[in-house]
Amino acid sequence: MNKMDKIINYINEGNYFIVTSHVNPDGDNIGSTLAMYYYLRSLDKDVYYVLDDDTPINLKFLLKDIEILSSEEFINLNIEQYNLIALDCGDLNRICIDKSIIENSKKLICIDHHASNDNYGDLNYVMPEESSTCELVYNLLKKINGDKNTQVIDQKIATALYTGVVTDTGKFSYSNTHPSTFEMAKELLILGAETNKVICEVYGNNPYNYYKLLGEALNTLDIINNKIAVITLTQDMLNRNNVSFKDTDGITPYCRDIENVEVGILVKEKSSNEIKISLRSKNYVDVSKVAKVFNGGGHVRAAGLTIFNETIENAIKMVVAETLKYI
Ligand code: 5GP
Ligand code: MN
Repeated sequence: MNKMDKIINYINEGNYFIVTSHVNPDGDNIGSTLAMYYYLRSLDKDVYYVLDDDTPINLKFLLKDIEILSSEEFINLNIEQYNLIALDCGDLNRICIDKSIIENSKKLICIDHHASNDNYGDLNYVMPEESSTCELVYNLLKKINGDKNTQVIDQKIATALYTGVVTDTGKFSYSNTHPSTFEMAKELLILGAETNKVICEVYGNNPYNYYKLLGEALNTLDIINNKIAVITLTQDMLNRNNVSFKDTDGITPYCRDIENVEVGILVKEKSSNEIKISLRSKNYVDVSKVAKVFNGGGHVRAAGLTIFNETIENAIKMVVAETLKYI
């Protein structure tokens, strides 16, 4: 039996499930988790969406009909036998729920597309060549369609999956956009995905303050050797403009999309001792290798890492020095 069938069988047999994903939720994280949540609910399973992090404003539209529980809220329900499905988590340590919930689960099912994933689940469906975890969930649901001879992807699932594929491919522009990605998008459109709503909500609804922050951020732009661009966001800048850390993902592409630049580095001060760094590349640098040196991870063209207890200046120096090895 292949890995997809094993997961389908296991899902069919279980009754209680948690779906969850990684810290700093993004479109693929929420889209894939939500699609799985809706599918399990359609089977009349007891399913809980648990995540200990806040949703970015531009993705809230997806979650208006459902409740995300914190780990504490789930633990208080005293549910003893449950399976845990982790979606879009490249690394066991990035699953954004209490460790005890992971340890007490009957089985951990991992569905993911990060190359750095070491198959940490009891059951794993890990395909690094796929555009997004949403594409994996789509493949899984398509297989179920075939097995059951019925359509299980409804409008809500289609919209959730479309959000993840649009955001993880940079609106179908990154090198992870394959023919299968467009096939999937086409099918989702036919199934009623609210594509215009997704684009308007995710990209077309930024508050005024966000642009004030963006202006300040762009003023920090530094270009090294013509090839590396660094943009810095400090806590002061976030506070001054009243924008929260979780709502700054849209700034990341600016550091990459510059003439001659190969690697863009967005440096974000998450708290006084935690600096989150996003890396993006255009053509030839495998930024996941840079991230790995700092215990981070991700993909060839998009990766991230966190540096603790360093000044912003030092953190930048360290990451730039590592990046220069590949330029
Ligand atoms: P971002 O820079 O947008 O936070 O993340 C880019 C990609 O790298 C995403 O696929 C994300 O899941 C992954 N990523 C970001 N930070 C980390 C990290 O600290 N560890 C790992 N393993 N992956 C990360
Ligand atoms: Mn993803």
